[in-house]
Amino acid sequence: MAYAAFTLDSLDVRRVAAAAGTPAYVYSETALTTRADEVLSFRAPFGLTARFAAKANPSRAVLRIFDAKGLHFDASTTFEARRVLSAGIAPTRVQITAQMLGEGLDDLVRAGVRVTACSLAQVERLGRTFPGLAIGLRVNPGEGSGGNNRTNVAGPGASFGIWHERLGEASALAESYGLRVTWLHHHVGSGGEPKKWAGIAERTMTFLDALPHVTTLNLGGGFKVARVEGEKRTDLARAADAIDVLLQSYAARIGRRLHLEIEPGTFLAANCGVIVARVVDVVDTGPSGHVFVKIDAGMAEILRPSLYGAQHPVEFVAADESRPLGAPRTLLVVGPCCESGDLITPAPGDPEALGERRLPIPSIGDLCVIGGAGAYCSSMAARNYNSIPAAPEVMVRASGALDVVRRRQSFEDIFRDEV
Ligand SMILES: *Cc1c(COP(=O)(O)O)cnc(C)c1O
Repeated sequence: MAYAAFTLDSLDVRRVAAAAGTPAYVYSETALTTRADEVLSFRAPFGLTARFAAKANPSRAVLRIFDAKGLHFDASTTFEARRVLSAGIAPTRVQITAQMLGEGLDDLVRAGVRVTACSLAQVERLGRTFPGLAIGLRVNPGEGSGGNNRTNVAGPGASFGIWHERLGEASALAESYGLRVTWLHHHVGSGGEPKKWAGIAERTMTFLDALPHVTTLNLGGGFKVARVEGEKRTDLARAADAIDVLLQSYAARIGRRLHLEIEPGTFLAANCGVIVARVVDVVDTGPSGHVFVKIDAGMAEILRPSLYGAQHPVEFVAADESRPLGAPRTLLVVGPCCESGDLITPAPGDPEALGERRLPIPSIGDLCVIGGAGAYCSSMAARNYNSIPAAPEVMVRASGALDVVRRRQSFEDIFRDEV
């Protein structure tokens, strides 16, 4: 299987299954550091800060690897920011860009965490408590680039950020509290086509004229990776070129040299992880029906296929070398939950439809590897649905050592907080 950064040849699936049981998330330290290097080399004429969008994978072991590489962090909630800090990361490296400013906000700001205000109410909330604070404004520039309605996070159909026509109001409100707007932020979805990305960036830059104190432009994340064959990975160098031109010409025209920030989640982590699962059953629905391979990982570990019709590579591995897989069959891979939507192989982009794959047929007890599972899997699953304990996470260190960095949730922990 040709994972971008994590080949089956280099991953001893049987060893992982023996060490951590199934299902288990497995991450590659080497892949994570390679991705970090790639993002940190994003060319910016007047300086770059690259942040990891922590919501993609807020596991402490992952955060620490990125922190050691010099990445900063973007948090989606105050809880996530606190989680990043509890991993030992300096508050000044953390930014909150959130739909709600929740519990612990004031302490976080006092510690040095930065906040991108995403609405007029958030500007007011910050102004009341922290007059004089430097803040950012997240703008909805009126256009997004996501793959479908569920990944499109800008445009009139998205609630994220301050609608561009209300930016003047936000700026006046900030000023009335003495807040200094020093960065402008947008995050326009998971498209990542460099030309389109630069087009929207150019549009966002037109809003800078009314924001004289802005020194930093944050263009969010949204860079694509190819999880399965045929998908396209964003060419980061091309994206950087397109933005470089914009920043240089803006500096030449206006005299403002803008520091650039980007904050990828997917790009940094998605292809750095897999899920190792076990085949628990193989059933069929007759000669005109389907063959279903049931594995012990499903929507409780990976929700993206059910949610977006996301495509993840799937491969089976014989549990015992002396008992190989069967001949290739056309089959569906499903999870163990009592839910017809618990489908690992939906049709591309259509979670409602079945997407058959042609793969060597496994037997009960064989292993299964789901690729592209390093981002938005462990952090976004329907955890504990059907009372399934949360799966462990394993880090394959650069040395080859397997570290269980999160143990399997105990059965009792599922209902421990019930009173
Ligand atoms: C989720 C998110 C990102 C990362 O998006 P990816 O598509 O994973 O790169 C970046 N910035 C903000 C504000 C986000 O909410």
